[in-house]
Amino acid sequence: MVLDLGLKSIMDRLGFDINNINNINYMCSAFRLNEDEQSSASLFKLEHKGHAPSFQFIFQSAGIGVKVQIKCPGCGKVKDITDYKSW
Ligand SMILES: [Zn+2]
Repeated sequence: MVLDLGLKSIMDRLGFDINNINNINYMCSAFRLNEDEQSSASLFKLEHKGHAPSFQFIFQSAGIGVKVQIKCPGCGKVKDITDYKSW
């Protein structure tokens, strides 16, 4: 398995063993939007249509879950789209 250095160093910092496939599955599910978060993101993209060619997602570990924010690089606005119901 080949991992890029960025992901490997993140996993090292979080104490993940890259040889353990369960940890890799956890990492992938943690950095993915669920249905509610996807609709919030779509709404934000509509509101900021034409501001920027692409949007940034900011994932932040918060102990019991992963917070996710979307950022419009055009106007700089950031919105928390975390689905706290899923925590
Ligand atoms: Zn904007």
